[in-house]
Amino acid sequence: MAWTGGLFVAVPPHHTSQTCPACFYKSADNRKTQASFLCTHCGYAENADIGGAINVLHRGLDLREASNQ
Ligand SMILES: [Zn+2]
Repeated sequence: MAWTGGLFVAVPPHHTSQTCPACFYKSADNRKTQASFLCTHCGYAENADIGGAINVLHRGLDLREASNQ
C-alpha cells in the first residue's frame, strides 16, 4: 500500500454489529433488537450502530498493524 502515499484500510463489515466492543465476544444473541446491543458475555450495553462503528475501527487498526509487519 506504500505506493498510494496514504492510508487505506478495507474493513469487512460482516457481523461487526454482533461483536462486543468491550470483550470481543461475538454472538447473534448480542443483538436483540435493531437499535440496541447487549453483550450476553460481559453485559456491555450500547447503541448497536455505535458498537458496530467501534468494531469497524478496531478491525481497521488491526489490519493496519498487520500490514506493517
Ligand atoms: Zn462483552
